[in-house]
Amino acid sequence: MSAVAAMFHQPVLKNRRTLLERAEKFVSDVYFTDCNLRGRLYGETCPLKSLSSFMTSKRISFSEAVQQTFEPCSVGDSFGPTWWTCWFKVFLTIPDAWRGKEVHLCWESDGEGMIWRDGQPCQGLTKEGEKTSFILTPSLKDEEPHSFTLYVEMACNGLFGAGKDSAIAAPDPHRTYTLQRAELVVFHRHVRELLTDFEMLVDIVKFLGEDNQRGYQALFTVNEMVNLCDPANPSSFLGTHSLAQKFFSQKNGESQHTVHTMGHCHIDSAWLWPYEETIRKCARSWVTAIRLMEKNPDFIFTCSQAQQFEWVKQWYPGLFSEIKHFVKKGQFVPVGGTWVEMDGNLPSGESMVRQFLLGQHFFQQEFGIYCKEFWLPDTFGYSAQLPQIMRGSGITRFLTQKLSWNLVNTFPHNTFFWEGLDSSRVLTHFPPGNSYEMKGRVEDFLKTLRNNKDKGRVNHSALLFGFGDGGGGPTQLMLDRIHRVPDTDGLPKVQMSCPDVFFSKLEADSSLFCSWSGELFLELHNGTYTTQAQIKLGNRQCEVLLHDAEVASSLALCRNSAFQYPSSRLQELWRLLLLNQFHDVLPGSCIEMVVQDALGYYQEIRSSGSRLLQEACTALCLEQGRAMAAFNTLPWERTEVIALSNHSTTSNLALVKVPSVGITSITASVQPECPVSVIVQEDGNVLMENGILRVVVNKTGSLLSLCLVKTNREAISDSCCGNQFVLFDDVPLYWDAWDVMDYHLQTRKPVVEVDKPLSVVSAGGLRGTVTYTLRISEKSSLTQDIILDAMCPYLKFSTKVDWAESHKFLKVEFPVRVHNPYASYEVQFGHVQRPTHRNTSWDWARFEVWGHKWADLSEYGFGVALLNDCKYGYSTYRNTLSLSLLRAPKAPDANADIGQHHFTYAVMPHSGSFQESSVIQCAYNLNFPLRLFPNAPDQSSWSAFSINPSAVILETIKQAENHKDALVVRMFESHGSSVSATLTTTLPLREAILCDLVERRISAQPTPVTASGISLDFQPFQIVSLLLFFQ
Ligand SMILES: [Zn+2]
Repeated sequence: MSAVAAMFHQPVLKNRRTLLERAEKFVSDVYFTDCNLRGRLYGETCPLKSLSSFMTSKRISFSEAVQQTFEPCSVGDSFGPTWWTCWFKVFLTIPDAWRGKEVHLCWESDGEGMIWRDGQPCQGLTKEGEKTSFILTPSLKDEEPHSFTLYVEMACNGLFGAGKDSAIAAPDPHRTYTLQRAELVVFHRHVRELLTDFEMLVDIVKFLGEDNQRGYQALFTVNEMVNLCDPANPSSFLGTHSLAQKFFSQKNGESQHTVHTMGHCHIDSAWLWPYEETIRKCARSWVTAIRLMEKNPDFIFTCSQAQQFEWVKQWYPGLFSEIKHFVKKGQFVPVGGTWVEMDGNLPSGESMVRQFLLGQHFFQQEFGIYCKEFWLPDTFGYSAQLPQIMRGSGITRFLTQKLSWNLVNTFPHNTFFWEGLDSSRVLTHFPPGNSYEMKGRVEDFLKTLRNNKDKGRVNHSALLFGFGDGGGGPTQLMLDRIHRVPDTDGLPKVQMSCPDVFFSKLEADSSLFCSWSGELFLELHNGTYTTQAQIKLGNRQCEVLLHDAEVASSLALCRNSAFQYPSSRLQELWRLLLLNQFHDVLPGSCIEMVVQDALGYYQEIRSSGSRLLQEACTALCLEQGRAMAAFNTLPWERTEVIALSNHSTTSNLALVKVPSVGITSITASVQPECPVSVIVQEDGNVLMENGILRVVVNKTGSLLSLCLVKTNREAISDSCCGNQFVLFDDVPLYWDAWDVMDYHLQTRKPVVEVDKPLSVVSAGGLRGTVTYTLRISEKSSLTQDIILDAMCPYLKFSTKVDWAESHKFLKVEFPVRVHNPYASYEVQFGHVQRPTHRNTSWDWARFEVWGHKWADLSEYGFGVALLNDCKYGYSTYRNTLSLSLLRAPKAPDANADIGQHHFTYAVMPHSGSFQESSVIQCAYNLNFPLRLFPNAPDQSSWSAFSINPSAVILETIKQAENHKDALVVRMFESHGSSVSATLTTTLPLREAILCDLVERRISAQPTPVTASGISLDFQPFQIVSLLLFFQ
């Protein structure tokens, strides 16, 4: 034994702390860098030959940028303001003396950068994402060029935008971004390797803890390494590295858990930065991932959101073809199957289907694949209909982790079967590390192992690594860590996997997995059902408009051979709508710039969509006439009061009856069975009645009574008022735009101050209207028209609010004379029930919930429904139904929701169940106005489709994606019942074939078409789609 080796084998004193800290200091980048190993990472440096730059307020292409005039600049200069771009021209010469050395361009700035070389994007440079150097050569050779020019495109924003003081604060528009370092350096690869060895061993000591003997083995190993390693003498490195290797190669037993690592880069399609910046974030992050794939053939990178691929395809075609190459090799793995990672609660059923339809078709067209797993790690809750929609889109597996953010209850599973509203099941995995942006550190592997709530049931977990939210993605260091410990005793086994390999492992033995039935409700971020009301309104109205435009275009296609279905225009509009459903846009958790972009997209959908609708309606009428026509896009006959022009005088009103999915020429108003009466009573209260409802409204707009005439059943609770506005203090703990906390309920204040007392606007006949104005505060007020129409079973509240609040929450309440421990809420293609009590923590954590067009509280034989045309937040506690109207958070948009708002809600008492009394249909009617158009033939009514029984709703009629001569119709069972239904059509139907949600045939045989129509069987909440071919 040599003298040196003997010295190392002196007994180690029993002082864990000094040994551990000694090793930490040996690799510290703060302490003792003059003599430790970390101080040796870089060798000589050399300044750039020249550096020049120019600023632009726009995000321009490379070819445009290089034509601009660049002015000299230096390291230390600052550039701005926020959202501008600084292009740098970098001329450099590597010294000849660096022959054989690895040379990097070191670039540090607080703005996000992209390196361009020879006109192609090469690599991202983001300090916050630990990417500050670019390899110029791995080993300098005489024959390679030593001098060249690079360009760096620096965005004047950070990885997380430009928040003032805190990350989620509104962006500071006047920030500047400094170039802190730009020079050439010699990089010592062996030092980097050793530093990683040291870091891993130190972490094993720390995270295995003091009661673990393997941790002590790591401690003695790392201590011996410090003894052996002389930072000044590279010849000591190999021996030091072997000591680490020996430790890492001591294997586990067979039974050890396997962690499947997958590179990932969560890029919010817009959040603290605008959509346009996301395009560059994708390029920066993905080109960097490709550089890593070139060096690490085992590296697998999972990547979601078809929209982001589409952006890169359009703006970075060279990069996109590289991506295609690595998709083929199986390293760049498209996942998710959707257009964007959308909000999981608020999009309509059809919108969710389109997320998958457009996403899967994109992946199929570009890469020849359908994604097999749904991927939504960062969304604020998951609808109970998602399992059925996934399965209908060719997906049986699901990955997320957001429920780890629950504020109240700990979700009990990591690997389980999630069972949807219709009992469809999908294999679901929540990576136990509770993150989608781990770093491949020892701590991450141990967290994944220890947090797993299905120990013993399953021996595989997923771990996603790479900087995320603002992009960034994996680094070589993360890969180096992962490569060191594939099978190291004391740690779980670690292997790089693609999602398919990982889920196949889970599927191979799923016998012990538990199930979770119904929605995955996130007990946090419940303010996102209400924040940014204009976005919510835009989403609802555009969903309705695209529905109507598709129905009209489909019918025109069948009736008028000259009509061209506007498929590409509709696809563009759908893509905009789906983009805005991204999980920080529709929920309202984005900056003001994004809100402006989103509202602009809604405006585009409104104007183009209305034009498409009008064109289709015109084409539907084969002969022109003088009559005005009403078009009903819903699958049931409707009798409604409509305004024939924008002037809201009574003389403009007409009562019309329009058949299902059909048209009626308006020649004369239908006479109501019972006209509306409006009577001002002696006490100033107003009595309104239409033969169905009898309402008493007081001077402040509150309902003293709401009565079903036929049964004389009162809906409003004793000594209470309906339509009571209430204001709450709304100060969350941190996530301002996202969160409404349970304690806000303790700050309830009724809004009672009257500005203009109740007055009668229209005195009855077809419509009775009363109006009044309330003062909400010094700054805000509310004017409401309460409207009762002839033959209408609900009372409408058309509301205008001038809103200038700060951290307040406005709701409207209806305390009703109904008792039930559960209330029902509409969701995608169905409804769910949620408690009205607070028995357990799972019950009270749902103090604020989401729903779509209606919520209902019923007892046997009677109930009250609350309908809305653009709201999503509800709550029902005991017998009080509340609709959430407006919030006023200040971050990340300091002006969120300030301004004027228009919305309509309605209250509908009913006898029987809500299913029997057509609450569902009424909520559709409130949202889907009858469409008026001129020059219709002077003929009577025409109906294209109808369906029986009413439990089944014909939701969608559209052109088939791959058969230009066929339609797709989508129906769903809405009551929660098993029924046989018949779809009938007056169109010349030839053949009907069942298809899935991405429009693939699911049966070889056509569905029989008889004289009475097409017979179909439905299970509760089942969605059925048909391809229809015509003669
Ligand atoms: Zn996100």
